[in-house]
Amino acid sequence: MAKIDDYTPIVGQSTIDDLRLLAGKLAGKKVCHYNSTAVGGGVAEILNRMVPLLKELGVDTRWEVIKGGKKFYEITKKFHNALHGKREQLLKSDYEVFLETNRKNAAEANLSSDIMFVHDPQPIALVEKKGSNKWIWRCHIDVSNPDKEVWSFLSGFIKNYDAAVFSSQKFSQILPIRQFLIAPSIDPLSDKNKELSPEAINSVLDNYAVPRDKPIITQISRFDRLKDPVGVIEAYKLVKKYIDCRLVLAGGTATDDPEGLAVLSEVQERAAGDPDIHILMLPQDDIAVNALQRASSVVLQKSLKEGFGLTVAEALWKGKAVVASNVGGIPLQVTHKYSGMLCNTVEGAAFNIKQLLNHPQYAKKLGENGRNHILNNYLLTRHLKEYMLLFLSVFQSQDMVYL
Ligand code: UDP
Repeated sequence: MAKIDDYTPIVGQSTIDDLRLLAGKLAGKKVCHYNSTAVGGGVAEILNRMVPLLKELGVDTRWEVIKGGKKFYEITKKFHNALHGKREQLLKSDYEVFLETNRKNAAEANLSSDIMFVHDPQPIALVEKKGSNKWIWRCHIDVSNPDKEVWSFLSGFIKNYDAAVFSSQKFSQILPIRQFLIAPSIDPLSDKNKELSPEAINSVLDNYAVPRDKPIITQISRFDRLKDPVGVIEAYKLVKKYIDCRLVLAGGTATDDPEGLAVLSEVQERAAGDPDIHILMLPQDDIAVNALQRASSVVLQKSLKEGFGLTVAEALWKGKAVVASNVGGIPLQVTHKYSGMLCNTVEGAAFNIKQLLNHPQYAKKLGENGRNHILNNYLLTRHLKEYMLLFLSVFQSQDMVYL
């Protein structure tokens, strides 16, 4: 695992010096991250790297995961969908199970760290046990148009936090607490993003039986309807009428997502009969994700809603031409026709993919611009710096903060 000094050649000495300086100011403070899964999805991806690096910098940090049963995750998935604007039927008993699970966890957990940093809705009600310490709610999802009932239920907890953090300006809400805008990030030195040799890439593709005889279009995502995997297949089919290519649709499951298997079987049904569509159920294997992204001519992210879309940053960092939906946090990363292509429909996605496959020099240029954009804005070191500034700022009175 990379150490903090290993980032110096990428981001420069002054960035690393800033991190050490800020970490020094947090000496003696304890930080606890709380989320809903240790494996799968963007939040776990970030915490897996953020927590060890904060520790290495000397910030006393731990990471806890809320424990819940099948019913709890079914309910929180409904919350997730409703916050993304989908109509969901939530019963009184659903809210009760949600609260019971949070209260059971709260009774058993150590919630006394100086900073309790709670990610997303699943553990949000732990804040009922707030003492005189500082609590931050970190929202990773697109809540620009949430279902009113669910948002109002969650707001009852959010107002008891000291601050809320959103990934994009578009998601901020009217709240009685301070709000911060901090975008997610990727780790350029993790197995998922580090450089790979051509042999390593070929070996992964051989392993998954994906020939490299034609251009490859790839989307890597949990099998979730909001990632629109069926729309990905539709777009590929439109492209395939004109350009011979392969589609890789790869994803694993997250332990907090109960819908994955049902979506996977819908996708398999839609893909049936086309040997150039590769539906891959990936184990947790970062090198495989890395290699599949690197072997692709175009990386697609055709989400219907997206908090940020780490997969977009991962592909851009690899200099790939990206076609991604103009939703949520994606336009922070992709400026249309500069650092990738944005789309709004299946037809738009297909049109952009065709353009990129037909004009490899243009695709290369977009990929280069994209890599620079990620280097300047979305690497883990910037994220660490902003989190430490946030931690320091919650101990200051509001009018002293100039973040
Ligand atoms: N991911 C993975 N394996 C998979 C599917 C996704 O490692 O089979 C990773 C992906 O590379 C990214 C993260 O999970 O790092 C997903 O984050 P993103 O923000 O794109 O979406 P989320 O799943 O959080 O909605």
